[in-house]
Amino acid sequence: MKPNIKILATGGTIAGRAKISTATTGYTAGAIEIDELLNAVPEIYEIANVTGEQICSIDSKDMTDEIWLKLATRINEIFSRGDVDGIVVTHGTDTLEETAYFLNLTVHGDKPVVLTGAMRPATAISSDGAMNLLNAVRVAANKNSVGKGVLVALNDEINSAREVTKTNTLTVNTFKNFELGLLGYVNAGTPEFYRTSTRRHTSNSEFDVTGLKKLPLVKIIYGHAGDDEIFVDAAINANVDGIIYAGTGNGSIHVNAEKALARATAKNIVVVRSSRVGNGTVIPAEKSYAEKNFLDGDNLSPQKARILLQLALTKTNNLSEIRRMFKQY
Ligand code: ASP
Repeated sequence: MKPNIKILATGGTIAGRAKISTATTGYTAGAIEIDELLNAVPEIYEIANVTGEQICSIDSKDMTDEIWLKLATRINEIFSRGDVDGIVVTHGTDTLEETAYFLNLTVHGDKPVVLTGAMRPATAISSDGAMNLLNAVRVAANKNSVGKGVLVALNDEINSAREVTKTNTLTVNTFKNFELGLLGYVNAGTPEFYRTSTRRHTSNSEFDVTGLKKLPLVKIIYGHAGDDEIFVDAAINANVDGIIYAGTGNGSIHVNAEKALARATAKNIVVVRSSRVGNGTVIPAEKSYAEKNFLDGDNLSPQKARILLQLALTKTNNLSEIRRMFKQY
């Protein structure tokens, strides 16, 4: 019997329409609705019983917390019914890794959830969308994908939601996990896994967004030579709940920004040090950071540290609890 796979469409370049077939930029993302997308790839019906549902039609640069909550809620609803074996989410590539990590922490259950997208619009010569969609359905329908957390499948590669990131603005081989490596490939149509992510996710996650209408407000501030207190003070004045400081090197903070961040933690705003470097782990460093109650973001990118802090703050303001979460997720 074929598995039942549900496709949840959110827009992006995979659903993008350009005026001419040679255009790979200057197109409208999210212009094609789910039925047209599925009709363009009839091969998916040889793999699974596929049904589609439109969640939204956006360029993923415009992704919102509200859509994340809607998507997580819908996926949990679908899985609670028991008649769907796996879910594919079609998504723009700009924030695909963020949605994947959010779902990795808020979907409960072991069934596969696979995100895919495309770098070339559906109307382009040699568009990557059709093959990416077919492969995502193959991954979602594969028993070996069960229990691996939310997966990202593009360009014949399978990556974990936690670690993958978009690394090139234009090329089709853009999703990478530079240092820890991909999880597997789709080899000539067959998903094959070689490793797995070790951090807590999905059925083992403590985060539950059921009934939530909004998420805590967490902003990212990007450190740089010549940094100052301007953005930190703006964040404090905006009553944020948390700040991710994407520091230089090992989450290092410019002395001027550090003074402002101390004002933030004194007001019970949670500050997490992350890094703009792109690889490696942020570990405790300066004594002054510990004294000011800044937390360490482990090896999460700033944009993923933001998501974990948002979810952490839905449960607690206790710093040692949040510290534990950054070690476990
Ligand atoms: N801006 C587009 C989006 O994220 C890019 C893409 O899908 O590749 O929706």
